[in-house]
Amino acid sequence: MITDGQVLIKVEDLYKVYNNRLHALDGVSEEIRKGEVVVIVGPSGSGKSTFLRSLNLLEMPTKGHVYFEGVDITSKETDIDLHRRKMGMVFQHFNLFPHKTILENITLAPIKLLKKSKEEAQENAMELLKLVGLEEKANTYPSRLSGGQKQRIAIIRSLAMDPEVMLFDEPTSALDPEMVGEVLELMKKLAHDGMTMVVVTHEMGFAKEVASRVIFMDEGKIKEQGTPEEFFDNPKDPRLKEFLSKIL
Ligand code: ADP
Ligand code: MG
Repeated sequence: MITDGQVLIKVEDLYKVYNNRLHALDGVSEEIRKGEVVVIVGPSGSGKSTFLRSLNLLEMPTKGHVYFEGVDITSKETDIDLHRRKMGMVFQHFNLFPHKTILENITLAPIKLLKKSKEEAQENAMELLKLVGLEEKANTYPSRLSGGQKQRIAIIRSLAMDPEVMLFDEPTSALDPEMVGEVLELMKKLAHDGMTMVVVTHEMGFAKEVASRVIFMDEGKIKEQGTPEEFFDNPKDPRLKEFLSKIL
C-alpha cells in the first residue's frame, strides 16, 4: 500500500560516528509517512539498528536532525520523553519485567506516564490480550510464556501506550522457527489496521506481503529503496543484488 499521508518522522542528513571513526550512519535522509509500513533490510553491521534507534533517540546522532510530527526532537529544547512515548519499540529480546505479571507489564507505563486509572489501564490491557488470544495469561509471569507469546505481549504492551508509530528491530530473530509465524501474523494485523511501522527484519516474505516500501542499508547508507515489486524483482545496486542472491 502506497500512502501519501502526512510525514510523521523526517530524518535529515543523519550521522552516527563511533570511536571517532566508524560511521554507523553515514548521511541518512528519509521520511516516514503516516500509515506506511517501511521494511529495512541489509547485511549485519550496516546500521539498521542504529538508524531505528535514532528515530526515537535511543541513539543520539553525531550530526543531523530527526523531526517527529514536525518537531525537531534532536534539539536540546525538546522534551524527548514526551515524543518517545508516541513511538512504540519492540526489540529482538522481549524485555518484559520478569517479576511483574503480564497484566502489570502492560499497564505499568499507561498508569505511570499517561496517568490512566488502574481500572482503565487494565480494561484496555484485557482488550489487547483478547486481540492476541492471551487473555488467560493476564496473571501469569513472563517466564511461563513461550518466546512467541512473550513477543506478542511485548508488542501489545507497546500498543497500550497508543503510539503513533511502531518500531521493530528484528522482532522474530530470537524466536524458535515455529513461533515466528504468530508474531508476523500480529504484525500483519497491525499493518492492515493502518499502524505506521518501521520494521528491521530478515523475513522477506513479510516484506513482500506487507511493506509499502523496502529500504536497503549498507555501510551506514540507504543504498536503494522501492516498492516490494521494484525492490525484489528489479534491484539495481550491486550490493543489493548480492545481498538478495544470498538470502532468497
Ligand atoms: P545492524 O543493525 O545493521 O547490524 P548496527 O546499527 O547495530 O548494524 O551497527 C552498525 C555499526 O555500528 C556496526 O559496525 C557496529 O559494530 C557499530 N556499533 C553499533 N553500536 C555500537 C556501539 N555502541 N559502539 C561502537 N560501535 C557500535
Ligand atoms: Mg541490528
